[in-house]
Amino acid sequence: MEKKSVSVTLKNVTKKFKDVKGKADVIAVNGAEFIVEPGELVTLLGPSGCGKTTTLRMVAGFELPTEGKILIGDTDVTMLPPNKRDTATMFQSYGLFPHMSVFDNVAYGLKLRKVAPDEIKKRVNESLDLVGLATYGDRAPGKLSGGQQQRVALARSLIVTPSVLLLDEPLSNLDALLREQMRVEIKRIQKTLGITAIYVTHDRVEAMSLSDRVIVMKNGFIRQIGAPEQIYEQPDTRFVAGFVGKAAFFPVEIGSKETDYWSCNLDGKEVKVAQAAPDVKTGDKAVLMARPESLRLTEKGKGHLDGKVRMNVYLGNSLESFVSTAYGEVLVQIDDPHSKKVFKEGQEVSIDFSPDRVRILGEDEN
Ligand code: ADP
Ligand code: MG
Repeated sequence: MEKKSVSVTLKNVTKKFKDVKGKADVIAVNGAEFIVEPGELVTLLGPSGCGKTTTLRMVAGFELPTEGKILIGDTDVTMLPPNKRDTATMFQSYGLFPHMSVFDNVAYGLKLRKVAPDEIKKRVNESLDLVGLATYGDRAPGKLSGGQQQRVALARSLIVTPSVLLLDEPLSNLDALLREQMRVEIKRIQKTLGITAIYVTHDRVEAMSLSDRVIVMKNGFIRQIGAPEQIYEQPDTRFVAGFVGKAAFFPVEIGSKETDYWSCNLDGKEVKVAQAAPDVKTGDKAVLMARPESLRLTEKGKGHLDGKVRMNVYLGNSLESFVSTAYGEVLVQIDDPHSKKVFKEGQEVSIDFSPDRVRILGEDEN
C-alpha cells in the first residue's frame, strides 16, 4: 500500500454560505492559509461552528471555495470533483453497508474501479490486517462493536490508497476508552503508510495526542498553527490558551522589559514573566496566563497572590487544589499528592508564579 507522500496547500481560502433566508453571507472559513507537509498529520481544532468541516470538505472537493486555491502536491485541485482528487474521507458515522460482509464493504471502492478479483482479495486482506481485523472478513458489520466498525470504515478508506486521508471527528461516536485506543491506532497506521492526513476534532486531548501540528480555529479564522507543545505552552492569544488546556488568567500591566524577563504589575506586586506573545509591549494592559501545573502554593503572604484553599481533589497521581482569590478560583496542580506543597481545605495560602512557566498575552482576545 506504500505510496509517495504529498503535501496539501491552502492559499487564502474563503468559503461564504448564504444564511437560511438566502440573504446575508455566513463566512464559514476566512482566508485560511497553511501547508500540510507530506506524511504529516495536522489537526483542525476549534469549537463547534468554527469552520473545521467546511475546510475539510473543500480539500475533499465536496465544497468549492468562494476564493483562494487548494493544491495537492503541485496540482491545483481547487475546481476538481472529489473523485479526481486522490483523497479519502472518513466521517463520524461509518456509513457501512449493513447487508454486505466486512470483506465486501472494504472491497467496495476497488470493485467500483473494476480491479481484478485476485488483486481485490489481496488488498482487502492487507487492509483488514492493517486495522487488526484480519479474521473478520466474513462477519456482518452490524455484529461488530463500534470500535471494530470504525476500523472497517478506516480499512475501506485506505484500500483505495489515497494520497491524503481526511478524517472528520471519526471517533466521536465511540466511548472514552475505545476513543483512546483508536487514536493510537489511527496514528500508527497513518505513520506506517506515511500518508498525509488532516483530522478534524473539537477535542483538545485528541488533537494534542494525535497531531504533528495543530491548527486552532475560531469563527472561521485560523488563530494559531503549531506543534502540540507550542500551542499549549506558547499560545498567542487568550482564546488559544483556554481552548487547548486549563489555564488561569490574571490582569496585569506590563512594565519594563529586562534582559530575560518582563516585569509585570499584578495589583501592586511585581511578577517576573519570561515569555510573552509576540505583539505585547511596555505599558499595555495584558493577561498573565498560568497553567495549573506551573503554579505553586506557599504560605500566606509569601507568594504573588493570596487566597484560600476551597477544595482539594485527589486524583491518584496528582492533586488539584482549587484556590479562591480576588481574581476568582485558580486551579493549582500538585504532582505529588503527599508532598509538603499540599495545603488543607480552608487554609490561607499564597500562589507563586515561576517566571519561566507563565506567559503574557494581549488583553483584547476573548
Ligand atoms: P465545524 O465543523 O467547525 O463545527 P462547519 O464548518 O460545519 O463548522 O460550519 C462553519 C459555519 O458555516 C457555521 O456557522 C455553519 O452554520 C455554516 N455552514 C456550514 N455549512 C453550511 C451550509 N451548507 N449552508 C449554510 N451555512 C453553512
Ligand atoms: Mg464539523
